[in-house]
Amino acid sequence: MRTKPLVALVAIAGLALGVAACGGDDKGGGTGTTKTFEAGTTMERLNKAQKITVGTKFDQPGFGLKNLSGKPEGFDVEIAKIIATELGIPADKIEWKETPSAIREQVIQNGDVDIVAATYTINEPRKQKIDFAGPYYVAGQHIMVRNDDSSITGPDSFKDGTKKVCSVTNSTPANNIKKYLKDEATQLVLFDIYQKCVTALEGKQVDAVTTDNVILTGFIANNAGKFKLAGTKFTDEPYGIGLKKGDDKFREFINKTLETIFGDGRYEKAWRDTAGKFDPNLPAPPSVNRY
Ligand code: GLU
Repeated sequence: MRTKPLVALVAIAGLALGVAACGGDDKGGGTGTTKTFEAGTTMERLNKAQKITVGTKFDQPGFGLKNLSGKPEGFDVEIAKIIATELGIPADKIEWKETPSAIREQVIQNGDVDIVAATYTINEPRKQKIDFAGPYYVAGQHIMVRNDDSSITGPDSFKDGTKKVCSVTNSTPANNIKKYLKDEATQLVLFDIYQKCVTALEGKQVDAVTTDNVILTGFIANNAGKFKLAGTKFTDEPYGIGLKKGDDKFREFINKTLETIFGDGRYEKAWRDTAGKFDPNLPAPPSVNRY
């Protein structure tokens, strides 16, 4: 296909998610694809820089876990890699930044990262500060206990005030669990990352960990025989890609990317290669929410 550098064509090419220019250089060491984006957009800036900075988790098996070679792996990581690919940026040009729950809005607002893919629930308070593309997955809050504990059967088990539950600062589960607690000060233990809650559960400093089912499933799989889920999920947690507030063209680009991969096999592959190892049920792709 021969294209003239007309703005309209460029815009269409960008919206069509990277129509490759024939015969163009592969700037990214052989894996990148030359793509053309509308001038002045975040897509153009990132593509020209051949670099994207992604905030993700480093401690969550299945979604974002730093492996022995120092690279994160997981479903969120794969989704971010696909977004980079669609920007014409090869995976080895992604800079990964560990982004615990409490600092996600801050790193986006500061411009420390270009996007956050980190089990990040779309909700109204967060939308006051940043924008979300997606959702691309819907998790739900659940409770994890030690394998030999049958005393906790769901969030109501905390109502008598005797059990301690651990979660992460500024996470939705930390907030949601409060209404089930008799005494928040003594019952709710908060850390910055979930791995610390898991260690506290194993060491019996707490009786339960609460966060999204998929995060807990990853910890259960990676700690064979030690933990189990208690009860059933009791919230919906739609995961979005966080980006700078007001960057509507970038948000639409990511939304279109997500809709494309929901239908072309890449979403399923990303799941199978990561979280699908713990949960082989393929998730039904949710509808993107263009708010
Ligand atoms: N999805 C929830 C949230 O965004 C819990 C998981 C997490 O802390 O990353 O707060």
